[in-house]
Amino acid sequence: MIYLDNNATTRVIDEVLAAMEPYYRELYGNAHAAHSLGRRSHEAVEEARASVARLMDCSDGEVIFTSCGTEGNALVIRGLIDAATSRRKIVTTAVEHPSVLLLLRALESRGDIELAVVDVDSDGALDLDQLRAAVDDRTLLVTVMLAQNETGVIHPIAEISALAHARGALLHVDAVQAAGKIAVSHDGVDFMTVSGHKLHAPKGVGALSIHRGLKLTPLWYGGGQELGLRSGTEPVPSIVGLGVAARLALESLPAFECVRELRDRFESEMRARFGVQIAGASQPRLPNTSSVIFRDHAAEVVASLDAHGVCVSAGAACNTGLEPSGTMKAMGLPAAVRFSLSRFTTADEIDEAVKIVGAALTK
Ligand code: PLP
Repeated sequence: MIYLDNNATTRVIDEVLAAMEPYYRELYGNAHAAHSLGRRSHEAVEEARASVARLMDCSDGEVIFTSCGTEGNALVIRGLIDAATSRRKIVTTAVEHPSVLLLLRALESRGDIELAVVDVDSDGALDLDQLRAAVDDRTLLVTVMLAQNETGVIHPIAEISALAHARGALLHVDAVQAAGKIAVSHDGVDFMTVSGHKLHAPKGVGALSIHRGLKLTPLWYGGGQELGLRSGTEPVPSIVGLGVAARLALESLPAFECVRELRDRFESEMRARFGVQIAGASQPRLPNTSSVIFRDHAAEVVASLDAHGVCVSAGAACNTGLEPSGTMKAMGLPAAVRFSLSRFTTADEIDEAVKIVGAALTK
């Protein structure tokens, strides 16, 4: 098998599994219990919080653990709306993950918010003039992803932050795809979401940062864990796994320069040999992501890759081949096939994938 679908999810690495195991077998105390086993769990959770805070470029006291990126995004959006008094407008982009975009559309259709969705161009670049015009004195929140999950395009967070804060709006950054692949800055960011399973931690754990003690209303109530924002007994093994994965991800950021070289070589070969287009190629992008537009042949390429054990991501099948995703539609492009590498991807794997694509296209 050749796994080139790391933006969908990643393999839990051995060091992470090894660090988690004792917290299932021997150190299974409730992190809030007043005995020694509980204290061990509590210390492990706090150690993990410090590692995750370093990854997110914020302080330990600003991080809470969640179950996933979807939950973090929902907690910021719903929690702010429920806590806010007057402002009711939210500004976002046409290429956000469904955990943001579908939630905002549902809240808009219920009349809970006023929504402005900013367009991107055919390269995936945000229309900053449109964003500037959309953010006004009624705006509660601007929510923008740091890196787009399909194209890897990186949004200009510093500029967006300045626009939002100039009008008194808060900024939420969905860094689920970016964290662990590029250095993340918390400067000018009020809330940031990350997810464990995108950076070699287990599924079912993520984190949210909340700057300056900003007020959110919890999604549910209970034992008051995680600053009262995320009641429920902490999944200590998963949190420990996230902490170790965050530390290793930060230490391994330089390895992404090799990933970028591999990705660039892959794209040069794809362009030179098959004349394909790469979505978002002119923009600053994540080093590991390549969304290739095969036009009429996308479905055959995906079927052939799958038959040869290569895992990639593609739009849903439809009668004309592959259905373009919302992101590709927003860019005015047809369906793309996403190849997403990890720091463990090898040159041989990339060469093999190129060979299989070539054979499928020749056929
Ligand atoms: N945000 C982005 C940009 C994503 O790519 C994803 C998952 O693909 C999510 C949020 C949701 O994360 P999770 O799967 O942890 O809920």
